[in-house]
Amino acid sequence: SWLLCCFNCRASDLVIEHNKACRPKPDTSNLVFGKQFSDHMLIINWSEADGWEAPQIKPFQNLSLHPASSALHYSVELFEGMKAFRGVDNHIRLFRPMLNMDRMHRSTERSCLPLFDKGELLECIKKLVEVDQEWVPYSQDASLYIRPTYIGTEPSLGVSRAGNAMIFVIVGPVGPYFTTGSFNPVSLLADPSFVRSWKGGVGAYKMGGNYSPTIMVQHEALRRGCQQVLWLYGEDEEITEVGTMNLFIYMTNTDGERELVTPPLDGIILPGVTRQSLLELARGWGEFQVTERKMTMKELLQALDEGRILEVFGAGTACVVSPVGSLLYRGKTYEIPTMQNGPYLAKRFHKELSDIQVCLLLMLHARL
Ligand code: PMP
Repeated sequence: SWLLCCFNCRASDLVIEHNKACRPKPDTSNLVFGKQFSDHMLIINWSEADGWEAPQIKPFQNLSLHPASSALHYSVELFEGMKAFRGVDNHIRLFRPMLNMDRMHRSTERSCLPLFDKGELLECIKKLVEVDQEWVPYSQDASLYIRPTYIGTEPSLGVSRAGNAMIFVIVGPVGPYFTTGSFNPVSLLADPSFVRSWKGGVGAYKMGGNYSPTIMVQHEALRRGCQQVLWLYGEDEEITEVGTMNLFIYMTNTDGERELVTPPLDGIILPGVTRQSLLELARGWGEFQVTERKMTMKELLQALDEGRILEVFGAGTACVVSPVGSLLYRGKTYEIPTMQNGPYLAKRFHKELSDIQVCLLLMLHARL
C-alpha cells in the first residue's frame, strides 16, 4: 500500500492558499541562522486509511498535533537542509536538490515512514520557493535555507510504525557564514568519551534523534573554550565529523605526496552533499590524491608533529567550508596550521562552490 500511496502525492494536485499578510523581508546583512521564516509553508499529510492528501502551500503557521504524536515521544522525525540561491542572472536555483531528496528518502526508509515520490516532492518544494521568491535574498552572499521535515503524527503511545505522518517544508533567508574574505578558524574539542554515531546505528541518516544528544556535548566544548566538537569513534579513535559538518584533511602523506583525505561512508558518517561536491571537484582537478579512508587520532597527531598537515576543514551546506585552527585532545591543545597555509584549498573550494551556486559557473544545477 505504501507504493500505491507514493503515486498519490502529486505536485499537480498542489493547493495554494496565499498569505494575505506578507511580512517585510529582513535586512540580509544581519540574519541569524534559522530564526527568520518566509510567508508560506508546504504541508503534505499521509494516513494509512487515505494515503497522501493533496499537497498544500499555506500561510506560515503553527502546527496542531495530537499530544501523543510519535514524533514528540519517540523522535519519529527526519529532515533535510538545502539552499536556493539567486544567481547573478537573477534566476533562482536550488543546489543539487535531488541529492537531498535521495538522502531524505533513505532517512524515510530507515524511519519506517511511508515513502514518497522524490521528483514530486521536489516539484512541490520548487513551487514553495517560487511562491516565496521575494524571500530569496538579492545578494551573492546570502541564500534561502530550505528545511524539509517529515514527522510521525501517529496519535498513540505504542512504539510502532506510524499510521499518520506529515511532510512539511519551511524556508527562510540565511546570511553568509563568513563575510567574503574573512575566514575564521574554529577550535575543536576531541573527547573520545562522547560518540555521535556507531556501526549499526543511524548516523548516516538525517534523523532528528541524532542531533538532540549532541547539544550537551557542543555545550561542553564551549565550556572548555572550544567552538565545536570533533567526533571520534571506536578503540582507535577514528576522526569522523566536525560539529554538523563532514571533515577534510589536506596533507602530505608518508610517500611525500599531496593527499586530500575524508572519512569513508561506512555507516557512521552523514553523506553530505557538500562532501560529495568537493570530492567531485577535487577529482576533476586531478592535481592531488583524493582519498576516502579512515584516519585515526594517532595518524593525525603524528602527521601534525611531522609538519605534514596542511589544512583541516569542515564542509557542509551552512558554510561550504569551515577551517579548523586548533584541537583540544586529552587536555592538550594542538595548533593546526590551516590558516598559515592560506588556507589555499579551503578558499579554493569555497570560491568554486559559491561561484557555482550563484551561477558564475554553470554546472551541477537544477534550474527552478
Ligand atoms: N554531517 C552532519 C552530521 C550534518 O548534520 C551535516 C549537515 N547536513 C553534514 C555533515 C553536511 O551535509 P551537507 O553537505 O549535505 O549539508
